[in-house]
Amino acid sequence: MTMINFFDIPLDTYKSWCASHKLPAFTLRQVHEWVTKKNTISFDKMTNISVKNQAKLSEILTINPFKTCQSLPASDGSATKYIFELANHVFIEAVAIQEKGYETLCISSQAGCPVDCKFCLTGVGGLKKNLSMPEIVAQLAVILSKGHSITHVVFMGMGEPLLNLKSVLPALDWLQSDWGFNLSKRHITVSTSGYLAGIKELIKNNIALNLAFSVGSANPKTRATIMPIEERNPIVEVAQTLAQYCNMHNRKLTLEYTLLKHVNDDLESAQQLANLAQYLKAKVNLINLNPHPKIPFQPVSNATLAAFKQALINQNIRTTVRYSKGQDVIAACGQLGESNLS
Ligand code: SF4
Repeated sequence: MTMINFFDIPLDTYKSWCASHKLPAFTLRQVHEWVTKKNTISFDKMTNISVKNQAKLSEILTINPFKTCQSLPASDGSATKYIFELANHVFIEAVAIQEKGYETLCISSQAGCPVDCKFCLTGVGGLKKNLSMPEIVAQLAVILSKGHSITHVVFMGMGEPLLNLKSVLPALDWLQSDWGFNLSKRHITVSTSGYLAGIKELIKNNIALNLAFSVGSANPKTRATIMPIEERNPIVEVAQTLAQYCNMHNRKLTLEYTLLKHVNDDLESAQQLANLAQYLKAKVNLINLNPHPKIPFQPVSNATLAAFKQALINQNIRTTVRYSKGQDVIAACGQLGESNLS
């Protein structure tokens, strides 16, 4: 019998699904409650379901679609990377990051990524596949079941989320709806490298999200050398489209900027980034590169990082620095993918 994934079953068909599988009408409701409210994904721990029906469920239904799940805690305790195995030896990664008073999950939307940003390890391996909606939602469900208290989710793991809206949008419904995991909409951020067709689709369908835009460089020529997406998605047009999007929804926009030594780290680059941030009324999040032998760039010094930040602040740009946590497990969001590179 083909297994069906729990997250694929529409809520309004729970009763009929149970009837067609000769289970009590409320069985799926009970499973739903365990998964979304009690962080439990093993049928044998769902104690209000009879042992007989637990066994039956495990024959026809799956919650965790992954073949294996490996966890790699950082030695400083600040992050845990999870490596999930899909069919055909395809791997994806998610990272639970401990912040002050809350915990963020950096989640993947694709296995690998076709966008090929030159500063990103995920891009090195290319695209393996788009994740299905259950494969996205289950990253959260599995990690919650391991005892994490996730309050924030960022789509900054492997993949360009706007290239997989077919799965990302229903996954967001599960994450933020009161019938799902009920995370605050304000605590969920979707990061894009500036895929115009995806932003336009959000506009067309009036979908309000907190977006983060990975800039690379605000200078089109420099950007083209480190983000090939610039060729068909020019930053000027991306900025105009993002401005239109932000005007519609009054959602906060973040500009993510990965600093690369001698590439995008000078004060002229800071001025260009400040101009973009002012135009988009966005805040800036600076990230120093997490170096890796397969990435042809180096991080900047602390002094350069401080000077770049100050240059933005001098232009009244709200600026934060995201320090890569758990360096020893390569846990930097947007730079995942080691497990896909053999
Ligand atoms: S930074 Fe994001 S969009 Fe660019 S290659 Fe990496 S995962 Fe893909």
